[in-house]
Amino acid sequence: MQAVPASTYSKTPTSSGNSTLPTPPRCYLSVDPITNSPRQSYAIAPDSGSFAPGTRLINWVWYYNLPDPSTALTDVLTDTAGRTHSNTVTSGLVRPDVWRKHLATTLPAMSAPFAALLSIAQQPFVTKVNDALSDKAAFHDGKVVLVGDALAAFRPHLAVATEQAARHCLGLARVWEGETTVEQWAREVTGYGKKMWLASRLLGVFGLGGWGALLKALYVYIAFVLKLKLGKGPKGY
Ligand SMILES: Cc1cc2nc3c(=O)[nH]c(=O)nc-3n(C[C@H](O)[C@H](O)[C@H](O)COP(=O)(O)OP(=O)(O)OC[C@H]3O[C@@H](n4cnc5c(N)ncnc54)[C@H](O)[C@@H]3O)c2cc1C
Repeated sequence: MQAVPASTYSKTPTSSGNSTLPTPPRCYLSVDPITNSPRQSYAIAPDSGSFAPGTRLINWVWYYNLPDPSTALTDVLTDTAGRTHSNTVTSGLVRPDVWRKHLATTLPAMSAPFAALLSIAQQPFVTKVNDALSDKAAFHDGKVVLVGDALAAFRPHLAVATEQAARHCLGLARVWEGETTVEQWAREVTGYGKKMWLASRLLGVFGLGGWGALLKALYVYIAFVLKLKLGKGPKGY
């Protein structure tokens, strides 16, 4: 999904796809404590942009861990033409045999609504979950800045990445209008970026990791939030 430093999470592919249903639920989250394989779904507009009931699509995301390296991971990332990708197999190129095998082993233990959704999905795509973080947002006396994913690319669980990109641009407008300084802006966005980066890791570990990893991620998150409150966050420039 994004350029990333190595992380345990890079072992985590997600499958994603669309299924058409007449009355899609607004948002549905299912965390399976036995397989550590959370699923999430929500209604989206199709290409026409219509939100009319009966025309909307259900977008779903399904997270699961695979060891890296492993034959299972290589299989998932190898497309129908035999090319092995490092991160993403796009829609239409996921091997039907791999998808069918994955469904066959997981659907019987899955909650009924999700099993129905996944079994009718056409052309899913698969991507590894990655993240990245810079502790500096402004360079060369503020003449070069990082915004959006270039500054902090989050794991997708919080769905705040686009909001972050917009926030950066709105903040820069205030800089260009002289309401704040680029240094102030850089300090704010790097603090916020690291907080959300840690929060999205925390939520991911909640769904996919064990208790030890969860407690560690929680501790790291709380410690950073306290540091921010004490004004000891990253300088950002
Ligand atoms: C599958 C998927 C699902 C997502 N779902 C959500 C979601 O539900 N909610 C959410 O908030 N976020 C979501 N995101 C994340 C969101 O899309 C990004 O956080 C957001 O697009 C970041 O905006 P950006 O402007 O920083 O980067 P981008 O949108 O990636 O824009 C960067 C642009 O730079 C261009 N570019 C790259 N290199 C060059 C170059 N050398 N020269 C010129 N141009 C270049 C690219 O073509 C691109 O247009 C999702 C991302 C993916 C991949």
